[in-house]
Amino acid sequence: MSEFKYTGEEVTVELVFNVARLLEANGIPCILINDCMHDIFGFDVAVTDIEFVIPDDLMDKAVDVLRAADFADDPIVPQGELKCRPFRALCERARGRDITRFEPIHWFHLAGEDAPDEFHPELCLHQKSDYFWNLPDLVLGPVNENDPHFMLATDRRLPGMMYYGRLNVDIPPIKVPRPARYVEAMMLLCARDAHTRDRGAQWALEIQLLRDLYFDRGCLDELLRMECFYPQFQVWWENLCEDDTMPANEEGYVTALRWMEEGYLPDTLFPWLCEEEDPFPGYNSPRAVITELA
Ligand SMILES: [Zn+2]
Repeated sequence: MSEFKYTGEEVTVELVFNVARLLEANGIPCILINDCMHDIFGFDVAVTDIEFVIPDDLMDKAVDVLRAADFADDPIVPQGELKCRPFRALCERARGRDITRFEPIHWFHLAGEDAPDEFHPELCLHQKSDYFWNLPDLVLGPVNENDPHFMLATDRRLPGMMYYGRLNVDIPPIKVPRPARYVEAMMLLCARDAHTRDRGAQWALEIQLLRDLYFDRGCLDELLRMECFYPQFQVWWENLCEDDTMPANEEGYVTALRWMEEGYLPDTLFPWLCEEEDPFPGYNSPRAVITELA
C-alpha cells in the first residue's frame, strides 16, 4: 500500500507519478489524458491540471483513497471559488454559456500559481464510459508495447524532447491511450455530441492537435500513420491530413451520421446543450434513403 500524502506540492511529473501509483496500489487502474498526455505526446504547452480516466465503478473508491492521502476537495475554497476551473464551468453552465468539454466526475484542488485571475491546478477524475466507451477495460500495471489500446508514457516511439515528450525511463509506469485510439475516441465524441450547440468543438480541437503534431511537426510518426487506425476511422483521418478544416469535413459528417443511425453512440453528456435542428443539413439519413428505395 502506498503511503503517499499530498502536502501542497505543485504539479510535477513526480506528483503525477505519485497519484498514479497511489491509485494503482489501491486497485484502481488509470490513464492520463489532457494536459499531461498532450505534453507526453510532444505538445509543448504548460501543464496545469492532472487528469486521470478510471473505471466507472471505482470512482467512489478513488475519491476515498485521494481524500485519505490529504487531497482537498472542499466544495467551496475560501475566497477562491472563482479560481477553481471545474467550479467555474458549473457557474458558466448556470449562465447558459457552457461548452462541450472533459467534465470531471470529481476533482481535487492542487497548489499552484496564486496570481489574481488565474485558476489553481486541479487533480481531475473522469469516468471511462463518458469518453472512452470504445476501449477495453483499464488494467493495472504496465502494458506491453504491442498493446493495441494503451501505452507507457516512457515508450520510445513517443517524441523525446528536453522539456516535454515521453517521460524519462527512470520514472515508473504511467499509462496513456495510444494516439490513434485517442483520435478515434475523439471522432466518436464529435459524432456523439454533434447535436450540441458547439458541435463537440472540444473534441474536434483534440483531433486537430494530434493531426498538427503528426502532419505538421512530424511527431508520433509510428503511432498515427494510416495503418494504426481501425478501418472505420481511416478515411476520416486521411481526409483530415489532407484538409484540416475540422469538423467541417464531409467524410467526418457522413461517418458520424452512419454511427448515429447504427446506434453505435451513447447519449450525449451535454443534453442541455442540444439543439433540435439537423446537425448535418444537406445530408440525407441513410435510413431514409433506404426507405425511399424500398
Ligand atoms: Zn479547484
